[in-house]
Formats: sequence, C-alpha cells, structure tokens
Amino acid sequence: MKNAPKMTPMLRQYLEIKERHQQEILFYRMGDFYEMFFEDAEIASKLLSITLTSRNNKGDTVKIPMCGIPYHAAQGYIAKLVQAGRRVAICEQVEDPAEAKGIVKREVVRVISPGVIVDQQLLPDNDHCFLAAVSHSGSTHGIWGLSVIDLSTSTFLVGQFLDHGDPPDDVLDQLARFSPAELLINSDQRSSLTRLLDNLHLQIPTLCVTERPAHPFHLDTAQQMLLEHFQVISLDGFGCAQMSHGLSAAAALLDYLQETQKTDLHHLRKLTPIELDAVLLIDDASRRNLELTQTIIGNRREGSLLSVLDRTGTPMGARLLKQCLLNPLRDKELIEQRLESVSFLYYHPGLRQKIRDSLALIYDIERLSSRMVLGHANARDALGLKASLAVLPDLQQTLQQCESPHLQSLQREFDACEDIHELLARSIAEDPPLTLRDGNLIKPGYHQELDELIALLRDGKQLILSLESKEREATGISKLKIGYNKVFGYFIEISKSHLEKVPPSYIRKQTLVNAERFITPELKEFENRVLSAHDRRLELEHQLFTGVRSAVAAHSSRLAEVARILALLDMYSCLAEVAVRYHYVRPTITEEAEITIVEGRHPVIERALPTGKFVPNDIALNHIDQQLLIITGPNMAGKSTVLRQTALIVLMAQMGCFVPAEQATIGVVDRIFTRVGAMDDLRRGQSTFMVEMSETANILNNATSRSLVILDEIGRGTSTYDGLAIAWSVAEALLEKDGRGVKTLFATHYHELTDLARTRTKVQNLSVAVKEWNDTIIFLHKLVSGGTSRSYGIQVAALAGVPAAVVSRAEEILRRIDHGTFDYQPKTQTPATIRTSEKKGKPQQLPLFREPTHPVLELLESIAVDDLTPRQALDMLYRLAEMV
Ligand code: ADP
Repeated sequence: MKNAPKMTPMLRQYLEIKERHQQEILFYRMGDFYEMFFEDAEIASKLLSITLTSRNNKGDTVKIPMCGIPYHAAQGYIAKLVQAGRRVAICEQVEDPAEAKGIVKREVVRVISPGVIVDQQLLPDNDHCFLAAVSHSGSTHGIWGLSVIDLSTSTFLVGQFLDHGDPPDDVLDQLARFSPAELLINSDQRSSLTRLLDNLHLQIPTLCVTERPAHPFHLDTAQQMLLEHFQVISLDGFGCAQMSHGLSAAAALLDYLQETQKTDLHHLRKLTPIELDAVLLIDDASRRNLELTQTIIGNRREGSLLSVLDRTGTPMGARLLKQCLLNPLRDKELIEQRLESVSFLYYHPGLRQKIRDSLALIYDIERLSSRMVLGHANARDALGLKASLAVLPDLQQTLQQCESPHLQSLQREFDACEDIHELLARSIAEDPPLTLRDGNLIKPGYHQELDELIALLRDGKQLILSLESKEREATGISKLKIGYNKVFGYFIEISKSHLEKVPPSYIRKQTLVNAERFITPELKEFENRVLSAHDRRLELEHQLFTGVRSAVAAHSSRLAEVARILALLDMYSCLAEVAVRYHYVRPTITEEAEITIVEGRHPVIERALPTGKFVPNDIALNHIDQQLLIITGPNMAGKSTVLRQTALIVLMAQMGCFVPAEQATIGVVDRIFTRVGAMDDLRRGQSTFMVEMSETANILNNATSRSLVILDEIGRGTSTYDGLAIAWSVAEALLEKDGRGVKTLFATHYHELTDLARTRTKVQNLSVAVKEWNDTIIFLHKLVSGGTSRSYGIQVAALAGVPAAVVSRAEEILRRIDHGTFDYQPKTQTPATIRTSEKKGKPQQLPLFREPTHPVLELLESIAVDDLTPRQALDMLYRLAEMV
C-alpha cells in the first residue's frame, strides 16, 4: 500500500483495538492524554472544537490525522460526544509502563453510549435516558417488538404490536414517545428498517442507531436469556410471556448492556409490559401539536404544558410527571385514585407544604441506588443518599396524617430505610473527596484497624520528635536532625563538624556539602511502619467503602420501592399546588360519552396573559345533539385556542390532574386526534396538503366513538372547491364513524360548512365573537352559538399593519366583488357569482373541463384569504394589480 502509514507496534495495537470498535470513537490512552486517530480524530475534532493535528512516524511521509484531550478533563468531552449521538470506547493502559516489555498493554475498559449513561453529570435530571431496541417479525407480518431500558432508574419495559404501515406509524409513535437516545437494531434487518429509521431521525436528530448481531434477537435465545437474567422459570409473572417479539428486543438490550457495562445488572429486576389499552393514546403529531412537553417552534420546554404543571421537588417526581403527561389513563378507577390524592392535598395546605418541604431535601434516590448497584457511586453519592434517607421518617409521619385511602396505602408500603441510613451515617466521612483512592472516605469509629492506622500516622510526627531527642542524647550531638525526602525516606542529618561523634551503628546514605545523612535500623523500621500504614489505610478505606456500597446495593429493591412512592407523592403534591395556584377544579370523570366544560381556559396561554384577561369558554360534546361542533370566526379570534384547550383539559383530567375550568365533566376518551397547523411538513419532505390528508386518513381510519377529534382548518392546502368538498365529506364521515360517530371540534373558514347543521341534528354551529367598531374589529374571544359568514380578513390585515392604501384598495375590490361590479373579464364566472350560488346552499357542480379563465380569476380562486400573512397579502395585491 503506497499511502498506508508505516506499521509501528503502537499503530498495529491501535488498529487491532479499533477493528473491534468500529462503531465507536476510540479514546486511546497515551500518558496523560486520550488520543484519537484517523477518521475518529476528524469527527471528534469537529464535534469538540479541538485542533486536528497529524503525526508521522520517523522516516514515514504519510501523516495520520490525530487529536487529543487531557485525561482528567475527559468527562466534559465524552458528554459532548454522547449528546451528539456518538458512542465512545475508553481504551486504557492496563499495565505499568515502567514494567512493560515492549509496547504497553491496552484494553477497552468501558464503552459509553448515548443510551447507557449512568454518570450523574451526563444525565438529564428531569428526564429518563432511554435505550431502546426494536425487532420485526419479518416482511409478511406486521408484528413489532419494542423494549426500552433506563439503566439509571432500572426501568425496563417491553411491548409488542401490529403495524403494517411503511413507515410503521404506531412503532414510530411509540419510539417518539420514549424519545430514546440510542436504538438497537438487528443488523440482519437493517434494510427493512430504512423507512422507520429515516422517519425517526427527523424526530430525534441525535438518535444513535447501533447495529447488533442477530443472535440475541432470536426468539428462543431471547426467552432463555431473560429467564436466566430474572432467575425465573416463566415470564408469565411479568405479564409479557406472550410478547415474543417484544422479548427478543428486551434480550437484545440485556445482551448489549452485559457487553458494554461489564457489571452486574441484577437491579433490573422486573419487566413491565407496555399496555397500549390502558393509556389514552396520543399520536406523535398530536403530542407535538398540543405542545405537551415542548413547543413546536424552537422545541423549548418553556411554553409547554409540562412547564406549567411541573412544580415537582425531586427529579423522580419530575420524570414521573412527564411520563404521566405523555400517557394519561383510560381506567376510571385509576384516574379517580389519582384525583382523590391530589384533592386531599389540595384541601390540606399544611400537610402539602410539609411534604413539599421534605421532598425538597431529597436527592435522586432512584439513580443513586442504581449507581450503587453498578459500582459507580462515590462517597459523595453515599452522602447524598444518606441525606435523602434522613428525611424519610419525618415524611412517613406526615403521610400518616393524610387520611386519604390511596395516600394511606402508600403510607403502609412506605419503608423509611432507617437501617440503610444508619449504616451510611456511621460509615461515610462528612467531607469525602470524589476519588476513592485518596482516603478520607470513612468516619472514625467505624473500623478498629483503620482507626489504629490513622492514629499511627497522626502520631508519627510525635514519634519522630522523641526518636530525635533520644538520638541527640545518645550521641551528644545537639544539632542532630531527623528529616524526610522522597528518594531516601527518613534520615538522620549531622553536620560535618560533628561527624566524629557519629556512632558506628549509623549507616551512611548521602553526603551533602556541609552534612552527612544516615539511617539506623530503628529509623528504617519506623519508616516501614508509617509508609505501609499509609498504603494500608488507603487500601482499607477503599475496601470498606466498596463494602458499604455493596451492602446498600443489596437493598436496591427497597430503595427502588421507596423512590417510586416518593415520585408519586411528589407528583400529587405538585398537581395540588398547581391547582391551588392557578385555580383549577377537580373534574368529574364518567364512563359516559360526554364532555362538558364550563368556563374552560387554556392552561398555557392564560399564564402568558395578565390575570383575568383570558376569556373562558364553554364546550359541550355528546352523541345526541352536540357531536360535531363547527367553529367559525376570523383569524386571530381564538378558534385554535378553544380547540386545543378542550383537548388539553381532557388530557389533564385523564392524567389525574385538576383542570383550568369552573366545572368539567369528562367521559373517558380512548384517543385524542388532532389535525392542526402544518409546522413540520417541510421536515418530512412532503407537501402541506399531503401531510394534512395523511393525518386526516389516520383519524378516519382509527377514531372510535370514544375518541376526541380536533380539526383545525382542513382542506386549505388545495383549491377552495376541493378543500370545501373534502372538509364536508370528512365531517360527514365523522358523524357516521363507528356507528355512533366521533366527538369532534371542527374549526373552519369554509362558512358553507355551517349548513350541515340544517340537516344534521348532531351538528352545532359556534363562532368566536368579534365586535365591529369604527371600521376595525375587536376580538372578544367568546364562543357564541351560530355560525358567522364574515371572515374580516381585511380588518385583520389592517390590524397586522398592512399599509392603509393597500387596505382601502382591498376594501374597494371586495365591495365591487360583492356588488358584482369587479369587471375584469366579461362572460366568465366571477367570484361574485360563485358567492351567490354558494349562499343558496347548492353545492357547485364542477365541470369536467373548465372554460379557460382569466389568470386573475385563477389566481384569486387559488388563494385562501384567511391563510395569508399580511406580507403575502400585500404581495398578492401588487401581483393582482399588475395583471389587470
Ligand atoms: P385563530 O385560531 O382563531 O386564528 P388563535 O386561537 O390562534 O386564533 O388565537 C389568537 C390569539 O388570541 C392567541 O394567541 C391569544 O393570544 C388570543 N386568544 C385566543 N383565545 C383567547 C381567549 N379565550 N382569551 C384571551 N385571549 C385569547
């Protein structure tokens, strides 16, 4: 090879190791640095903004790209790479370079990848860090298996479902819901997963996809691996024995963790089935449209429903709250149980405050416990756990006073873990260092030998002084000194003038200009005792600490259980606090097909407005006379707001949260569908209309009579006629769907749709009121019954700042169109005639071939006035003016 670098032993070793870690960036330890070479160096230097250099071996002209980072600063760099979705393999020197014959032996000791981080600094506090795996039954069936693990909290879930789509929408939804940092796939299935992965990358751009060998994915191997891991003879007890494809994904996860973590995984004690029937399903598009956990624009947490609701005091509570928000319940009993707890704390502010004060002192017990089990915990983690456990007895007492059935049952299960606290309090020093090799980890009084060693070290100074005075007396040399240096250890120093008095038992060690240094057997023995005491102390402290750590780890299931209860308590008291603070009420939950909201508000928008400025609105949906509500009104009137707030109130009620309303009765819904906006169309590379129609198709295929559907303007991505025709037929289909029809809120700018109510008793027309005042309009944001026939587009344009001349020209054109005098092309059908015929309620019969029309007319027909931004409206007017 002409362009290959010369093979030195180091390069050979590097390439051998790299060969086994092709999917990782290899951190190759050289002295105090981790070095990266070749492509790794090129990638890492960019992601880490560090300088890319190159090296060439002696006499070699080929340069090898390289970059390096100091080993003690590695954490931060690893964090950056992992956050960018990269895996990092840490390759250490595993023998002492001084003793190595030839090149120092090196090995990869750890692989850190986005889905398996347990380091506190790298983990997001309030969120899970999921590692997921998918498996597929093969091209002829649509059975998918999915499994996810959060190693830092011991969450291990498994699910299986049918999905024939390409890309498989349900699988995508589920994956997007967990938003894993890393996804494992069977390398044999790589090609059949292309569509899934492409779509997933759009939603989670930093997703790290890791290909794994097919072996653990095989159904038989998988089953066996899991039985062995959980030490059970059947998986029936977990309720997921039948999910064979799910299990194959679960086994792939275990196999991967065993390989990369190289530690015990027994804290993953149970496998929990993902039961789609138990939760209110919200597809991924709706989840984003409703801005549950982040905003559509900018993907920020601020401005999401979560940011309004999250007043939790612990990371455990914050994670639970987020999961509950993404998975509201469907079971009335379970919802009531949560509401009942929130309600108790709502009406007992004193107890609530006490609980919240206690929680504020508690660290992330769930993750600390996992770190203990994985052997990553240091002494400060142990102190954090101690401080957290110290709070538990008090908290338990507070909980005893909470006379609510569910809180009482939590109280009975509550284990204050006093024995674990006692062990930590007795053993761990108050101010320990981060490292485990430098001592100062263990408290005095915990271990006798350690106390003796420490005493010996402390007394060493005294011993030296007494030895010094003894030797002075014996020799009669008053200037005799005992000193210490690293090379010779302890020595006796005597100045040249006193040399003749040196006794023969002294052994000469070193000669200085004015003095000589000696040792004696007694001094040597002292030295050995002190130095070995020092080494022994460090060793013993390390050993004692890891002993405590393992003892705590042995109780990890108790810690996990108390962490679960703390998370629940945290969530309940947070929801009660929010309810009080923002004036929410407890919803009434029923099994009936009705939704009645009195004076409902939008939980996020009302927070952005001054108090009292948000205008509340009533919404009533049932299957008798209010199944499909058609909502009309000008842009900016508040249509979307009322639509979204209805969905959010239902969702909040089903997660067990009080709701922003004066009163609400919520008949449990099975799914919420939304078709709103078109924010992410471009990302998907599909046209707006295409996305709109595929979302509509999804609704029409999957909505049931128990679902809630929110449609905000459908059909506007196409011509007016097509759009109206589609909107009309979708509305009809929803009235019939699933026998009883689907509860639907339909905001539209097609005023014609209000005609549906004339023939259909289940349809109601509502509009958002505006007041006309001196040529302009005032938005009242109030829903009133009846449709509206005006869109006030020109007034809205004026309010948006379109120049007065353009506005008045638009008014003139509109007036002339309305009077049929906007005569730009005689003999063709004018917009005025279209309007009159539409008003008569006769749907237009569209001819197969249209007569040629004037370009202005064509253009006018194609614009949806309501959709235009002021800027576009202005451009459009100029264009029209040029064409006539
Ligand atoms: P539309 O969908 O009719 O175009 P939006 O629902 O987007 O209108 O509302 C536009 C803006 O009006 C919102 O951003 C909000 O600031 C305000 N708004 C909407 N509804 C209300 C309300 N009920 N009370 C107060 N302000 C509201």
